[in-house]
Amino acid sequence: MIVSFDIDGTMEFGDPPGPLTVDFVRRARALGYTIGSASDRPIRNQRDLWEQHELEMDFITLKHNLKDVREQMPPADRYLHIGDTEVDRHFAKLAGFDFSFGHEVTDPESWLD
Ligand SMILES: [Mg+2]
Repeated sequence: MIVSFDIDGTMEFGDPPGPLTVDFVRRARALGYTIGSASDRPIRNQRDLWEQHELEMDFITLKHNLKDVREQMPPADRYLHIGDTEVDRHFAKLAGFDFSFGHEVTDPESWLD
């Protein structure tokens, strides 16, 4: 499973802050999911933010390029983008990703089945 995270309005360190904690992403990674970042922020800025929170991402992309992730990463059984706006939903759909709002997403342990 490949999981993509928006930052602003989605992550606790976003601007504005969102509902998802650094620990949430850390647990998703520990469970073996391929995780990455898809935001409107410049790539370097995204990378800096994740590094500041000591999270290693498997990919970092601009949100409107999310479809490239699907082409560049090894095939997965499920693709999920987590964000906070209809723009997130739009680009997720365009890229063939499922979409969840950050405040609706279930705990990473529940994705295992
Ligand atoms: Mg956002």
